Amino acid sequence: MKIGFIGLGNMGGPMARNLAQAGMSVTGYDTAASAPDGVSMAATAAEAAKGADVVITMLPNGAILRAVANEVIPVMSPGAILLDCSTVDVDSARAVADQAAASDIGALDAPVSGGIGGADAGTLTFMVGGSAEALAKGAPLLDIMGGRTVHCGPSGNGQAAKICNNMILGATMVVTCEAFALADKLGLDRQAMYDVASTSSGQSWSLTTYCPAPGVGPVSPADNDYRPGFASELMLKDLGLAQQAAESVDAPTPMGAEALRQYTAFTRDEDGEGRDFSAMLPRFAARSRSQS
Ligand code: NAD
Repeated sequence: MKIGFIGLGNMGGPMARNLAQAGMSVTGYDTAASAPDGVSMAATAAEAAKGADVVITMLPNGAILRAVANEVIPVMSPGAILLDCSTVDVDSARAVADQAAASDIGALDAPVSGGIGGADAGTLTFMVGGSAEALAKGAPLLDIMGGRTVHCGPSGNGQAAKICNNMILGATMVVTCEAFALADKLGLDRQAMYDVASTSSGQSWSLTTYCPAPGVGPVSPADNDYRPGFASELMLKDLGLAQQAAESVDAPTPMGAEALRQYTAFTRDEDGEGRDFSAMLPRFAARSRSQS
């Protein structure tokens, strides 16, 4: 299969390399990043896309995705697939899919979870929006880059699933961190707090898989001085997308809005940028009630 891969950053680089290692012919393009192993580079996005069976994009945001789609869709062959793995707003995903359909090109929005480690190991989870027919064509590639694919419905639904999941994650991490900081001030040992909550109704992924308290629970970024992991600014991006989507359909999301407020302050006004999103725990531990 001939693949064009646009956006070869922290995530796209290892994903493209895994496709090349699996024997695919991969032509890449990036405005800054260099060629991953086995990938030949084109001079423009259009050149990377021309003649490709599948064009994969892994880009920072919806505006850049729309700009790249404007460039590549006119040169793609009818029947080819545009497979976007970036995390972008639902509206951009649907607009790009409509634009592709008008040129007889299939479109899939397939954002991922699993982070840089998952991209490197080829174990990402893909949440996919688009037709079953387009997914059947893209599935062999998703199987190389990832371990699990969930078809979430028509175009945009992959992005919808991603931002709903990450809104739960962000809000859950905030409350888990504030609960540990409260436990500290109440004189409750963090291990005891973990032993109770991890086996009781306060249990969550944020607590039992990614515990924000160093030395407690499984190894997590907290045990590595809160180096990411999943950086606070990436959580901030996803929480912003969730609020944007909620506004567009008039859905009430008070906890998501509060999580966004917390990560905005942490990332923009404090020392959160470049730190793992679980570093909310030392933040709360160092603050008083009037600073929340
Ligand atoms: P990144 O910034 O490392 O990579 C983005 C790449 O796109 C960069 O190399 C940049 O030069 C390139 N680029 C920007 N504009 C371009 C253009 N017009 N044409 C071609 N290339 C262009 O970001 P990343 O961490 O690889 O994330 C990519 C996407 O994956 C984002 O949407 C992000 O939200 C999502 N994501 C990231 C993670 C993570 O842990 N890093 C996890 C899940 C999802």
